[in-house]
Amino acid sequence: MNAPDLIRRLQPTEGGATALPADAGVYDASQTPTVLFLDQTGQLGGAEFALLPLAEACTTRSEVVLLADGPFRTRLEEHGVRVKVLSDARVSNLDREAVRLNLLSAVPGILRQIRAIAREARRFDVLFVNTQKAMVLGALGKPLHRRPVIWFLHDIMSRAHFGRVQLMVVKWLSRYVVDQVVANSRASAETLSALAGIPLERIPVIPNGIDAAGFHKIDADAADDRAALRRRLGLPENAYLAGLFGRLAPWKGQHIALQALAKLPDMHLVLVGAPLFGERAYADGLRLQAEELGVTGRVHFAGFRDDMPAWMKAMDMVLHTSIDPEPLGRVVIEGMIAERPVVAAAAGGVLEIVRDGHNGLLAKPGDVDGIVKAIDTLRLHPDMAHRLARQGAIDAQRDFSLEAYVSRMTQAIARAAR
Ligand code: UDP
Repeated sequence: MNAPDLIRRLQPTEGGATALPADAGVYDASQTPTVLFLDQTGQLGGAEFALLPLAEACTTRSEVVLLADGPFRTRLEEHGVRVKVLSDARVSNLDREAVRLNLLSAVPGILRQIRAIAREARRFDVLFVNTQKAMVLGALGKPLHRRPVIWFLHDIMSRAHFGRVQLMVVKWLSRYVVDQVVANSRASAETLSALAGIPLERIPVIPNGIDAAGFHKIDADAADDRAALRRRLGLPENAYLAGLFGRLAPWKGQHIALQALAKLPDMHLVLVGAPLFGERAYADGLRLQAEELGVTGRVHFAGFRDDMPAWMKAMDMVLHTSIDPEPLGRVVIEGMIAERPVVAAAAGGVLEIVRDGHNGLLAKPGDVDGIVKAIDTLRLHPDMAHRLARQGAIDAQRDFSLEAYVSRMTQAIARAAR
């Protein structure tokens, strides 16, 4: 079910009662608070895809504020969501290094943005912050807006991704200012709990929901359908295709997939995704690496694609090679819903999605030989590959339903607003 269908089900019926999905629990539409959603980026990453159906389900009583413009704004507007962009180039461009070297000169811009966010937040019952920078700016402005702050944590809070200063700021704000944290996985929740000393039971986990309907629309299970789909996407019709989905970034490990490809002579690798947050050099490096490995003819750089279901269904298998623990790994869930066997890196949130040998295969992060072996296993045992894919689709649709996600999240927002 997509978000508009879900909203229709959440609208009051004629008799005034509210039609609810069975798993929605107690929900009173008249008490739904108004929400300001705040996200730092205009790019389309996993956190933004998680916010989209939620904002869409709350269109009548919410607004989204973005701290940078980009395709996410357009996407939200296409779904009927009201969006405002409050960008301040000097703050948007602050990276870890700049903060360290030049914090003082950034202070006026940061204060301006905190005030602007607080002005917006005052018009709503609750402030929902969806990314790290959004959390920091939204929480620092709490004395000005005096609204409860709910933070949707989509990150593994470790030194691999965040600077020392940022971790310290997050530690204190999440402990003393944020009213409620919700995490996208147990893995994310555990790292925040360890960092900030917040008991794990006070960080509920609400995993993302994926709209399975889009995947069901694509017919690619019969050989003819798959060949037609591959022709349409410009992919080789008869090769064994492994698809790796996600932005091109060192920690997503596309370079590991290329190394595996070099050891799997007749396989093709399709890299779907673009460098979203300044990883251009890494993306260029991947092309060079492919040349050096002599696999250029078997790698397809597809760039950012909007139609994930089609691209995933066109594959023989879905590969995931992140070398750092993934906070959740939406692409792994999507690969399973597409009913393709997955080989995924055994760390972080992925361990809450894939059970090795039951609904997919796991390999140690960065273990090229382990990945090669897992792919060989799928190819040598097509019955097993089919069984894993089937089970993956069943498990992922059960555990990551869009309905359950939106309904649990709206309830968490309502509770935080009280
Ligand atoms: N995605 C997409 N087009 C692309 C690459 C990725 O729509 O070309 C989507 C993908 O379907 C998934 C999200 O981007 O829903 C990435 O989420 P994930 O949790 O895997 O990674 P994150 O970006 O949060 O690190």
